[in-house]
Amino acid sequence: MTDEDELLICIECAKDIRLKKLIKRISKKGLCSCCEKNEFIIDVDSNEFIQIIKALIRYHYSEWDYNEHWGGNGYGSLFYEVDNIFFKKENFKDQEVYDELINRIECFEVYEDYDKGVSIFAGYYDGQQNQLLQSIKSDLNHSIKQIEHKLKTENYFKFEDQITQMLLEYSDCSKITVESKSAFYRARIGVENKKRSLFAGGFEGEMVFVPYSNSKIGAPPPLVAGTGRLNRAGVSYLYSATDKYTAISEIRPHPGDVVSIGKFIVNKELLIFDLTESQFLNFFQSDKSLDKFDKLNTFTELMQKVIPPSERHVYNITQLIADCIRKLNFDGILFPSSVGNGENLVLFNPELMDYTFDDAEVVEIKDVTYEYFQRKWEKDISEIE
Ligand SMILES: [Zn+2]
Repeated sequence: MTDEDELLICIECAKDIRLKKLIKRISKKGLCSCCEKNEFIIDVDSNEFIQIIKALIRYHYSEWDYNEHWGGNGYGSLFYEVDNIFFKKENFKDQEVYDELINRIECFEVYEDYDKGVSIFAGYYDGQQNQLLQSIKSDLNHSIKQIEHKLKTENYFKFEDQITQMLLEYSDCSKITVESKSAFYRARIGVENKKRSLFAGGFEGEMVFVPYSNSKIGAPPPLVAGTGRLNRAGVSYLYSATDKYTAISEIRPHPGDVVSIGKFIVNKELLIFDLTESQFLNFFQSDKSLDKFDKLNTFTELMQKVIPPSERHVYNITQLIADCIRKLNFDGILFPSSVGNGENLVLFNPELMDYTFDDAEVVEIKDVTYEYFQRKWEKDISEIE
C-alpha cells in the first residue's frame, strides 16, 4: 500500500460509537481496506474522517496524555494502546494496513483555524504556552456543576430558568422524533409465576415460568414510585431501553436471578430530547463548534454517570434537567445507558407506550462482569495538601 492508495475503513472496523454513527450517517457502501468486507465505509482522506478522529482524541484524552512535551508519547501511540478506543485492530487482515492508517492519522494538520477544523494541541500565544487542553469528556461546564452543587442546599426550582435557557441553546439539534410503532424493552427481576412441568408417570420436567406482563412490568404508579435518575419520588415516568441486554443491565441483576423481559410499543409519534452520542456529530467539525458542545455534553455525562444505589440523592440534577425538558413540551429523553451498550428512552407519560406479549422472555442471569479503573490511593491522607 502506498501513500496515494485509497484507504477505506468500515463501520465494523470502527470501535468508537460516534465514529460508527458518522459512517452510518454518510451511508456509503464499499470494500473495506481493513477487513476486506463490503460494508458502510468512510474514506480516511476525507475531511470528515480527519476532523472526527482529531475530535475523538480531544473528546477522550487530555493533552498531557499525548503531548510529548508534557509527558505523553505522541498522539499516534494512542492508537496502539491495548484497549485502543478508535478501531477494532483484530479485524484487520494485514497489520501493515493498520500501520498505514495510523501513519496517515499522524500526518493530520494538528493546528487549524478556530472555525475551520480541530486542533489537538493548545499551542503558544506570544511565546507563552496556552493552557493545555483537557479532555472534552471530563471538562464539564462550570455553571452546571455549580448548580449541581447548590442543589444540596437550595430548592431545585430556583434553577429551572437557568437550565431551560441552556437547553434552548440546543433547540436546533436536540429535537428528534421517535416513530409510532417503535419497540423498546423493560426488564424486572422475578416472575409472575413458576411451576415444574410433569411428565406422564410423575417424572419432573423443566421449570416453566410466567413472566411479569402489562402493568406488572410497566412503570410503577405515582403512589409507589420511588426516586429515579429522572423522576422525583411520587412521579411515574416510563424507563425503557433500545434492546433487551440494556434493559437487563439497567436493573442490575445478580447471578442466579430470574428476570422477566417485556416489549413496549410506542403508540404515537414522540418528540424526544436527544442526549445520545449522536449529538457529537453536530459539533465535531471545528474547535469553535466543539466549544459550543460543552453544556450539551455535560447534560449527557450527568445522565449516564454511574450512581451506586446508596447515592440516589445525587439524582437531583438529572431530575431538574428532566423537569425543564418536560416543560419545553418534549415527550421524553433519549440518553446512553451507563451500564448497557444501548440507549435509554424515558417517557414522562407512561401511557405513550403499550405492552405487547410478543417477544416476552424469561432469562436467568448466568454471570455479571465488572469493569473498573484504578483510583489514586494512599495509606494515610492526613499529610496530603
Ligand atoms: Zn472493515
